[in-house]
Amino acid sequence: MLALMQRTRVEKVHLMVDPPTGLRAIIAIHGGRALPALGGCRYLAYPDDDSAVADAIRLSEVMTFKAALAGLPFSGGKAVILRGPHVEDRARLFEAFGRFVDSLQGGYITAVDSGTSTTDMDCVAQATRYVTSTTAAGDPSAHTALGVFAGIRSTAMARLGSDNLEGLRVAIQGLGHVGYGLAEHLHAAGAELLVCDTDPGRVQLAVEQLTARPVAADALPTTPCDIFAPCAQGGVLSAKTVAQLRCAAVAGSANAQLASLEVADQLEARGILYAPDYVINAGGLIQVALQYGHAEPVAITQQLSQIGQRLTGIFAQAQATHRSPARVAQAMAERLVYG
Ligand code: NAD
Repeated sequence: MLALMQRTRVEKVHLMVDPPTGLRAIIAIHGGRALPALGGCRYLAYPDDDSAVADAIRLSEVMTFKAALAGLPFSGGKAVILRGPHVEDRARLFEAFGRFVDSLQGGYITAVDSGTSTTDMDCVAQATRYVTSTTAAGDPSAHTALGVFAGIRSTAMARLGSDNLEGLRVAIQGLGHVGYGLAEHLHAAGAELLVCDTDPGRVQLAVEQLTARPVAADALPTTPCDIFAPCAQGGVLSAKTVAQLRCAAVAGSANAQLASLEVADQLEARGILYAPDYVINAGGLIQVALQYGHAEPVAITQQLSQIGQRLTGIFAQAQATHRSPARVAQAMAERLVYG
């Protein structure tokens, strides 16, 4: 674990167990920039404790890069609450997590992430002020979806020569908070949707409301399309899956899509344009950060609108230097964070 921390330059990992509520939680603080760490709290089941700690460490580094490239004055943090088979009292669990966050005295500010909701953050707020995306602050997912939509336009422009999405075939993996919102924007723009979700109810909704075509979850990544949009889990782009992709570009919301940076080179070699995840999915972090700082909604809209331009710049640099956009984004982020 310490080796992973060294590799990712994550400074601190805090752990807490609270037997009365069943809380078992991790907070990783990247601390790459001398700024408070901001990042979501996941509430998920993991195969073992080590994978949960590793997830928090890796994602806190990603959050630092995301904040740096979006020009936000935060460092990266990530919390994980391990989800057990059943929890007695969810509100008490999240209140206990709030006490954990509070014990760090502002070193980490928490927010919603996979498996948590604004209602959970209301419970966290009972115990700490270092929390955002409460019911009053709002769920950031709609902003993430909007940023990914803008990013898909830039990706289509760079790879296909037009940002007109009419008739573009987009395969969306995961129709959750972000994926479904993205599907709505794409449908309104005239795109053809191919969709999958492990929850058949979400798929049915997209079929009925957005005339989406359902595809089996395991077949979606290999279904011919223009853009593959991973909006479910990380690690979907491995050497094996990339060899099987049948798309012109990959642009979706999921965090940590690449199993390794070498996979980005493989995408490049196959002529598949990759929109770096922590650039295209920054909309939620932008909303959370600016909302926490009491910014006006117009400032959030302005910052969101820069996601597409930022990607266009990265694609141009990648083309000019014959590198993958993922490598360009990483080099830019490392320069900003480490100098
Ligand atoms: P979510 O939990 O609301 O949605 C995920 C959806 O994917 C669910 O509907 C789930 O049933 C489905 N799913 C899970 N495994 C699947 C699989 N193997 N195949 C197909 N569908 C599957 O999560 P979300 O908030 O929509 O986030 C989606 C992704 O985007 C996550 O990776 C998250 O880390 C990332 N992200 C989210 C935000 C945000 O603002 N919510 C911001 C940045 C990044």
